Amino acid sequence: MRTGKIIEINCRCGCPLFRYFKAGKGRLLKCLISRLTDDYVGIKGAATFSRPICPQCGKELGIVMMIHGEPALKLNQGTIESIRI
Ligand SMILES: [Zn+2]
Repeated sequence: MRTGKIIEINCRCGCPLFRYFKAGKGRLLKCLISRLTDDYVGIKGAATFSRPICPQCGKELGIVMMIHGEPALKLNQGTIESIRI
């Protein structure tokens, strides 16, 4: 098992979005959807190229795309609260 930790991702408006198992260190730019541990906004099952939005403020969280054959959410850095590891 790879090392990592579960981090909480929030919108800048304060709305909790999801929890994610992050491997390694560094800035979070994209999230593999299979590694979401809790999904408060329905990202699991979102179609490729869909743009999930924050249920509270309606801002786009990013875009769902395939990365190495796996669905991932490329985060909109302007919407996601900065993450400390
Ligand atoms: Zn929001």
